[in-house]
Amino acid sequence: MSPSAHPQPSAEDEVVDLARDLIRIDTTNTGETATSAGERAAAEYVAAKLDEVGITAEIYESERGRASVVARIEGTDSERGGLVVHGHLDVVPANAADWSVDPFSGEIRDDYLWGRGAVDMKDMDAMVLALVRQWAREGRKPPRDITLAFFADEEAGSIHGAHWMVDNHPEWFEGATEAISEVGGFSVSVTDDLRLYLIETAEKGIEWLKLTATGKAGHGSFTHEDNAITTLSEAVSRIGRHKFPLVLTDTVRRFLEEAGDALQIEFDPNEPELAIAKLGPIARIIGATLRNTANPTMLDAGYKVNVIPGSATAAIDGRVLPGQEQEFLATIRELAGPDVTVEPTMEQIPLETTFDGALVDAMADALRFEDPGARAVPYMLSGGTDGKALSRLGIRCFGFAPLRLPPDLDFASLFHGVDERVPIDGLRFGVRVLDRFLSRS
Ligand SMILES: [Zn+2]
Repeated sequence: MSPSAHPQPSAEDEVVDLARDLIRIDTTNTGETATSAGERAAAEYVAAKLDEVGITAEIYESERGRASVVARIEGTDSERGGLVVHGHLDVVPANAADWSVDPFSGEIRDDYLWGRGAVDMKDMDAMVLALVRQWAREGRKPPRDITLAFFADEEAGSIHGAHWMVDNHPEWFEGATEAISEVGGFSVSVTDDLRLYLIETAEKGIEWLKLTATGKAGHGSFTHEDNAITTLSEAVSRIGRHKFPLVLTDTVRRFLEEAGDALQIEFDPNEPELAIAKLGPIARIIGATLRNTANPTMLDAGYKVNVIPGSATAAIDGRVLPGQEQEFLATIRELAGPDVTVEPTMEQIPLETTFDGALVDAMADALRFEDPGARAVPYMLSGGTDGKALSRLGIRCFGFAPLRLPPDLDFASLFHGVDERVPIDGLRFGVRVLDRFLSRS
């Protein structure tokens, strides 16, 4: 029988089925190991798909069921620094009652694949899986060594996934100089023949804080000068109302210049908000990267209406620009005042790398080859990804999960959103771009 009688499926043929299978494995990350059930099943699925084509994968568990999968693909020149291509297998919860489809059915409707994880980030997981399967069948090798990693626990801070792997199995990433993963490489339409593709080159840091005020406990009927709730409330109000100063990092400045040029709008470095407002749905993403932010999110004090409690606490969700960590904490302490203690409860570093070099050129070239109207621009993500863990090893991290999107799609709101979905065409486009990019990087 000739090979053409039974043609092997190509990556473009397989990518939709792989993404669909992954969506059907419910990998909801609740933040608690006891109730995060699906990661192990998803890891086994990925390992089996790799094994089928002769790629040996290793599964590691940080805690029972919190499984990450890694595999090595040897390049033609192993002397060069390696590339890490990584994704996460977990997803945030979905409340089925709010959705138009069952969030874990992987339904295909109106040329979209629907479901929790469709853009965050089982789409990219499937693209990578489809591509390396095709390469293995064809006996193709990338130019340099690639470490594939599919991590657990990204959605709850990567503690049981990427951070654990970096701490316990750094050997998988040894010699790697660069990494690509999620929340970058998607298109934002400017005109019919011009699309910006946002490549993530920076991430804000996370600074979760606990504020505590202590005072004198006592009876609610007495006059009382030292009330912990009053002291805490004043501190919380000052922090919540504070507007941090504008700080244009290199990444954001470059984005605003490139976007301003593409959209033919003048951007005033002192008032970038005016230009950003004209960016459409991505204005929210970019707007959050102009300054540090500190949002009060939780309050806790008291147990009875006529008892003044001895202490009161609040939680602050702080997000910090690269290079601003000390400045941020100093400002918070000053706003909190001398009677309120400020303790970090979770800290994750901000990241920033430059938008240059052969890898960046290869991204831009691969995008342009598949979309002649593509223009690659760097941007900063206001949230965090597994890149924070890999960057601890000195690896330059980029968000590059290529997707060409329809002009009217509000992509940003699909992340963790209701009716998360990905265009089928976008998945196939992503596979072609990644194929070209990874064959030349
Ligand atoms: Zn994600």
